[in-house]
Amino acid sequence: MKKKVVVTGEFTNKKIKNLEERFLVVKPKDRDSLEKEILEAEVVLSRHTTIDKALINKSKNLKLISLATTGYDSIDIEECTKHNIQVCNSPQLDEEVGDIAIFHIINAMRKCNKANQQLRKGQWYDNESVGMEINHKNLLIVGYGRIGKTIARKARVLGVNLFATSPHLIEDDVKDDYIVKAVKFKVGIKLADIVVLAVPLTKKTFHMIDENTFHQMKNSSVLVNISRGEVVDSKALIKALNEGEINYASVDVFENEPLKENNEALFVKNLYLTPHIGSFTFATRDRMQQNAIENVFDYFEGKDVRFKINKI
Ligand code: NAP
Repeated sequence: MKKKVVVTGEFTNKKIKNLEERFLVVKPKDRDSLEKEILEAEVVLSRHTTIDKALINKSKNLKLISLATTGYDSIDIEECTKHNIQVCNSPQLDEEVGDIAIFHIINAMRKCNKANQQLRKGQWYDNESVGMEINHKNLLIVGYGRIGKTIARKARVLGVNLFATSPHLIEDDVKDDYIVKAVKFKVGIKLADIVVLAVPLTKKTFHMIDENTFHQMKNSSVLVNISRGEVVDSKALIKALNEGEINYASVDVFENEPLKENNEALFVKNLYLTPHIGSFTFATRDRMQQNAIENVFDYFEGKDVRFKINKI
């Protein structure tokens, strides 16, 4: 009898076909059917579907959750660890997310979107499109992991002074060839002209950028978020932008995605949003799905899986 694999989220037909040749693939359409399928499932292949404590507690046989995403905040990792469920992700997208971060940095500093909007309104440009110099500015990377390091490498050619903050970094240490100075968060946030967020969403990073952080930041500074929307308190961000506590925000992620058309954020003039497209290239999506599926094959063949999130 074929082993069952529960698949949640969108995967390309070609990839699913490969799986179907070996396994019984079931695709629950909603939470209710997922609850039923997870009861006996040994393996779940997923993208952004929430797999919370309640679902994990329902499962009797679950051993592996293989994600075709880098972020794993949709999964209750602690609960998985308690139940000896291995969670692994697909983090091979640093270059692409790094590119989007650089785009947002330049967009925020040079007001490219503003200029584009003026042009479409029939105006060539005006004072609102005048941007800020990037060369010699202080860029703080919050979260110096795979994506953070890639951003540092790419940002270096912009001529910025690079700073990073991350729990494993030792203060004042100079890291890597990209000449990144490690600083404490509270120090970095005050000296930064550009703050880029590249942290995972965890209990500790939830709303780590809040009203108090915006008070500490320079009024001329810009915020770039390519991590997860919930890392920033969006109400505080909108207030800070409207009241001039910071100059501009350019973000790929926002709280409560996808944004509803009446979301206040869409009407803030110094806030630019892309709809979570950091990994949106054909090659990246293919690579991530391939990795997640290979982990499923490897698991059933008794091989070690790659990119483990939790220790079990
Ligand atoms: P990673 O390699 O695990 O790096 C994350 C870094 O954040 C680590 O260096 C970690 O430090 C640091 N960190 C954790 N908590 C922190 C805190 N409280 N303050 C400062 N730094 C902290 O992950 P990654 O591959 O770079 O990805 C980062 C995140 O980007 C993902 O989790 C995902 O949410 C997001 N992402 C977004 C997109 C998009 O489409 N926009 C695409 C991919 C990923 P330690 O090593 O010391 O723990």
